[in-house]
Amino acid sequence: MVYRPSTTLIHGGVDRTPFGETSEAVFLTSGFVYDSAEQAEATFAGTATHYQYSRFGNPTVTAFERRMALLEGAEACRATATGMAAVNAAMLSHLRTGDRVVASRALFGSCHWIVSSLLPKLGIAHEFVDAGDAAGWRRALGTPAQLVLLETPSNPMLDIVDLAMVAELAHAAGALVVVDNVFATPLLQRPLEHGADVVVYSATKHIDGQGRVLGGAVLGRKAWIEEVLQPFIRNTGPSMSPFNAWTLLKGMETLPLRVHAATRTAASLADFLADHPQIARVWYPARADHPQHALAMRQMTAGGTLVTFELAGGKAAAFRFCNALGLVAISNNLGDSRSMVTHPATTTHMRIGTDERARLGITDGVVRLSVGLEDVADLTEDLGRALDASALRHAAE
Ligand SMILES: *Cc1c(COP(=O)(O)O)cnc(C)c1O
Repeated sequence: MVYRPSTTLIHGGVDRTPFGETSEAVFLTSGFVYDSAEQAEATFAGTATHYQYSRFGNPTVTAFERRMALLEGAEACRATATGMAAVNAAMLSHLRTGDRVVASRALFGSCHWIVSSLLPKLGIAHEFVDAGDAAGWRRALGTPAQLVLLETPSNPMLDIVDLAMVAELAHAAGALVVVDNVFATPLLQRPLEHGADVVVYSATKHIDGQGRVLGGAVLGRKAWIEEVLQPFIRNTGPSMSPFNAWTLLKGMETLPLRVHAATRTAASLADFLADHPQIARVWYPARADHPQHALAMRQMTAGGTLVTFELAGGKAAAFRFCNALGLVAISNNLGDSRSMVTHPATTTHMRIGTDERARLGITDGVVRLSVGLEDVADLTEDLGRALDASALRHAAE
């Protein structure tokens, strides 16, 4: 039976023990025992199914993987300790020396590091393409490639990549398409339906959504997950802790309530910010003034929980604004029940350098807001007060 997402997120993947517990059991065990030497032999030979060791698999982690796969509409899922472990495992399990990777330029900082700093050490070539540059994607994928990595909407400028177009070009070039779907969440965008082969998540973000644990997930076809990814995870050990899997299962029960509420608030705050005199520009995919609004709304069912904006007064105004906020916290995290702002140029995107930042449009006035679950009126007042404070001090200087 295929249920709708809200139902799947409560009931999906559960494997009750004979005790009949209501809530999923947490199997905090590193290993498992066998009834006999014969059962151990058969398990290692693959002729019997039995948990062996939690680096390979654990019942609580399996429940998380099953629920994620049902939600995504993917054949299979493997959980990882962090989102970066998911990205790294998806890439390194698939690639070998001599391969070529084409990636969106607008990537999460550590994903950018894997492509630009780690892959060259392994003899794997790479080429970056600007997210919205159709001709650039066509050119880069005019030569054979083995993997495409992209993020849409991207961090922090919320650039949109045309998933169907890139997937078609990538497949013609021989590449596996890996989509980092963290910003959209599994509820607002389904990359597999637009041609992606693999979807990766940092479950640390909306899936936990309450600032508690790190986690990641890789989803895709059963054959690829079992034959390519699983041996890599089993033998290199980026496995998810059963306790974290249990915490994430709890988070998933309320994922639709949280994502839809934060999205409604984000849309309202984006409109408020766009009308404010201190704000030079707002980026929000569901607003008609987003440069790729039509494409965004073809791929996403709503604009998401992040809003990016530029203060007219540059870095000084951005810092004054952040420091004047009372309710919204300064944090590089996102997808949390608490609203958070970050100044990408001096934090998450400091290391990529001035030129790359300029190329991505990350000016010194840019602030990224991750919208949480507070009352929209309180958030609007907090942003308004901080903008006024930033303007007053600006005028006094
Ligand atoms: C946070 C994040 C990651 C990395 O996830 P961790 O759980 O922090 O390792 C990767 N991609 C995107 C888009 C993210 O926001």
